[in-house]
Amino acid sequence: MSDNSNSLKFDLVVVGCGISGLSAAVTAQQNGARVAILERSPKEERGGNTRYTESYWRMQSRDSVSADFEEQLIANSGGYPDPEITQETLRAYNEWSPILKALAFTDPELISTIAQEAPLALKWLESFGIKFDFLPNYFINESTTRMAPIGGGLALVETLAKYAETVPSDITFFYNTAAKSLLNSKNGEIIGVSAVNNQNLRLDILGDAVVLASGGFQGNPEMQSQYLGTQAVYTRPVARGGYYNRGEGIRMALDAGGSPAGDYGSFHAQPVDPRSGEQEPIVLTYTYGILVNKLGMRFVDEAPTTVDASYESRTREIMKQPEGLAFAIHDGRLDDIPNWKKSIRSSVPPIMAETLSEIADKINVDTYSLVSTIHAFNNACPEPSNFNPIHVDGLATQGLLPNKSNWSRVIDKPPFRIWPIIAANCFTFGGIKVNTNAQVINMDGDIIPRLYAAGEVVGLYYRNYPGSTSVMRGAVTGRLAALHFTRLQN
Ligand SMILES: Cc1cc2nc3c(=O)[nH]c(=O)nc-3n(C[C@H](O)[C@H](O)[C@H](O)COP(=O)(O)OP(=O)(O)OC[C@H]3O[C@@H](n4cnc5c(N)ncnc54)[C@H](O)[C@@H]3O)c2cc1C
Repeated sequence: MSDNSNSLKFDLVVVGCGISGLSAAVTAQQNGARVAILERSPKEERGGNTRYTESYWRMQSRDSVSADFEEQLIANSGGYPDPEITQETLRAYNEWSPILKALAFTDPELISTIAQEAPLALKWLESFGIKFDFLPNYFINESTTRMAPIGGGLALVETLAKYAETVPSDITFFYNTAAKSLLNSKNGEIIGVSAVNNQNLRLDILGDAVVLASGGFQGNPEMQSQYLGTQAVYTRPVARGGYYNRGEGIRMALDAGGSPAGDYGSFHAQPVDPRSGEQEPIVLTYTYGILVNKLGMRFVDEAPTTVDASYESRTREIMKQPEGLAFAIHDGRLDDIPNWKKSIRSSVPPIMAETLSEIADKINVDTYSLVSTIHAFNNACPEPSNFNPIHVDGLATQGLLPNKSNWSRVIDKPPFRIWPIIAANCFTFGGIKVNTNAQVINMDGDIIPRLYAAGEVVGLYYRNYPGSTSVMRGAVTGRLAALHFTRLQN
């Protein structure tokens, strides 16, 4: 391991103090490395997105990921990858062509590694006293199985960070310190990071390797506009931690020649009430009502399947609407849905109305347009005898564009409840290609020595995010990076 005489020289430099950075740092320390963790936020806010998540893991037990885990990731592993190229995945990895190794798709090796490693990561976290269980969540109906740590992501961050603080000679935290660029030796080898502290002073931190674990770019308006488009101005991070993730880790890896992976034009979208300052003020009851835009028009099938499997793509449609805004309109029948309040986390009460034209007035939408939309919807609704809020019930409208596929019942019974909804950005999908050791892969399919990526920096998702897989991605890739690094060192 390294010479300890220089206090700013470590074995491993970890950028970011969320689940991925802490998993990397603590695993490396447990395997004999001296580690620096750089964290942009002050200590009280350490942990980025992880601090604010309930941290569901797509697991069916402590020993196994959910039954649909690999199927869902493979189904969302790219646009239309060329089968001529992807068929090479049937060969051993070292026989893959450079094109395939650098290809922007989720390779099956990485998916199965995450599936295998997730139970080990979960048990490793339990070794610090954290307990996982099947905890209740905010979905009224859902399509998969999930476990979560008691205390959520906050417990993950604080437990691992407090452990790290008990070994101060091995793990050093640099708070209020944002990594800006990688440092290279004369021959181009990565030898650390250059950072800036809150006095805008430069600090160089050297190490034998760097783990980029600094999250996505949901906190960076310039990158959002560039990659997600101009409508991104109407989105915001779903919780406070996301503001710290400004994309430097991804940029550093791209600048070093890393291959882009993950869907740069997309992000994990959540429907939230823009009036509420709560963390994650979701509104997930719209599957029982309708969504209209500022023109008073429906624009999407509100309920193609269970809400957990469809809210993300519906929310991205909301972002595309004028001013990135929609309204969820419900009538008094909302009270038929058992426990519907668990699906609303806005701290602001709904807008209330007694008539359709009062709804239009209160949300400042053209009355003729809104009333016509609701009448057309009502006329297309089937007999509601099979209504079943808990399972997809096939109660679909007919003859509308777009139709609604489930839970379609007329909207005519006051009181009407209306929530405004925008798309919140939970995390961005665009990131960096890694192999199963979390080593960054360059554009030629080769490893960039001494450079690892973990968590949101890893490009894994395309199209739809298979929910409850991002914290496990962070824990697994952080640990993979540290285990590989310490194996090489020892
Ligand atoms: C409200 C909410 C609910 C969620 N629910 C779930 C869920 O149930 N299940 C699930 O799997 N996922 C969920 N997610 C997503 C998940 O929490 C994150 O994707 C995951 O925790 C990211 O971990 P990470 O370590 O990659 O990034 P983060 O936890 O965001 O950590 C990144 C860290 O890097 C720091 N940083 C950023 N830039 C720099 C820099 N240049 N230099 C130094 N430090 C820097 C940040 O301050 C931050 O501490 C949720 C997210 C939120 C916000």
